Amino acid sequence: MTTNKSFDVIVVGAGSVGTPAAMTLSEAGLKVLVVDQCPSVGQGSNKRAIGGLRATHSDPAKIRLCLRSLEVFAAWKELHGDDIEWLKGGYSYVAYRPEEERTLKELLAVQKRYGLAIDWHDAAGLLRIIPDLNPDGLIGGTFSPDDGNASPLLAVHAFYRRAKSLGAVFHFGERVTALAVSGGRVTGVRTDKGEYGAAIVVNAAGPSGAEVAALAGVDVPVRPDSHEAAVTEAVARFLGPMVVDIRPVAGSANYYFYQHATGQVIFCITPSPSIWGQDVRETSSFLPMVADRMVGLIPRLRNLRIRRTWRGLYPMTPDGSPIVGWTRELEGYLLAVGMCGQGFMLGPGIGELIGRMVAGATTEDDRETLTYLSPYREFKGQEKLK
Ligand SMILES: Cc1cc2nc3c(=O)[nH]c(=O)nc-3n(C[C@H](O)[C@H](O)[C@H](O)COP(=O)(O)OP(=O)(O)OC[C@H]3O[C@@H](n4cnc5c(N)ncnc54)[C@H](O)[C@@H]3O)c2cc1C
Repeated sequence: MTTNKSFDVIVVGAGSVGTPAAMTLSEAGLKVLVVDQCPSVGQGSNKRAIGGLRATHSDPAKIRLCLRSLEVFAAWKELHGDDIEWLKGGYSYVAYRPEEERTLKELLAVQKRYGLAIDWHDAAGLLRIIPDLNPDGLIGGTFSPDDGNASPLLAVHAFYRRAKSLGAVFHFGERVTALAVSGGRVTGVRTDKGEYGAAIVVNAAGPSGAEVAALAGVDVPVRPDSHEAAVTEAVARFLGPMVVDIRPVAGSANYYFYQHATGQVIFCITPSPSIWGQDVRETSSFLPMVADRMVGLIPRLRNLRIRRTWRGLYPMTPDGSPIVGWTRELEGYLLAVGMCGQGFMLGPGIGELIGRMVAGATTEDDRETLTYLSPYREFKGQEKLK
């Protein structure tokens, strides 16, 4: 391989995770190449995310990583100048049945232990935070005030610009087709346009994470499934937090929605059973299903007009947690895949973790985090707040 095609690290995928990872690696002075098959940054799952940012999880690794991500998103404008439409509106998980009340209350101990600002509020308290919630049968819910939201495209572009200004090279419209390997080590990647050398390759290929892992003979349990979302017209502010309802009903599991900084309500629902595969064509069943549930929860939403719907992919893992770690099969090959429905919020935290892994500078907390996210874990648990 020629020297002008040699890098310290090659990142496959310029999405929610690959872009902030490239930024962190460039901040450390490394020579970074990012290769993405799409024509520009964030065109995979990243731009289909609705922008929710929370550290409210049940898995300690995700709580910790997202607490760091939230710091990055919240301080971005002040530190770097770009407006990524960050809004600290908080997150609220509502309970209308004892089942959800129990689940949410049980999680408070671990959430607080890992530093999350969160509390349980009874019905009257929650109605003070979200006055438009349907009070009929409301038991209460959690509220985590430091969570929020931002624009996935503005944020990924901000990370991209900073990575580029620090010297990272981005190749768009180029697909990684093979890994170059020698003596049990990765030595670079082959694409449909050329070959590039690096002693470290990061797989941040999102819903295609399993395919890109398979290029190295590594089997990772990442399966894409389809989720649909929509955005309404913009209206005056009336809703503070992201509202999440985790009650399963026939046809759908949880759904969540919030009012963006620019006034639109943006929402999403998890179909049940899951729609496995790479199909991103919208269905006609999504809107009636989700609109019914949302209007039941906040009757005032009934008059809002919907402007656009879309469909995208969650890169799912069997236990709902990401897969981050070095492969045992191939030295120098780092997996950062399986972000499920939380890759946007995990991106900056995982990007920095990748920076410390590459530098050989992980902390004790990182090592604990990495045991939760290990590619070689048993995948037996279950994230309760997917
Ligand atoms: C409807 C919907 C709502 C969502 N809402 C939220 C939310 O509110 N908050 C949140 O945090 N997350 C949300 N998500 C999830 C989030 O979008 C994903 O978890 C996240 O984007 C995954 O990030 P990634 O970097 O792993 O993948 P991506 O952002 O998809 O990036 C992977 C990149 O790899 C590239 N690639 C793949 N294979 C190759 C190859 N062989 N060669 C070159 N390039 C390749 C792709 O082109 C792509 O750009 C939502 C998802 C959907 C669908």
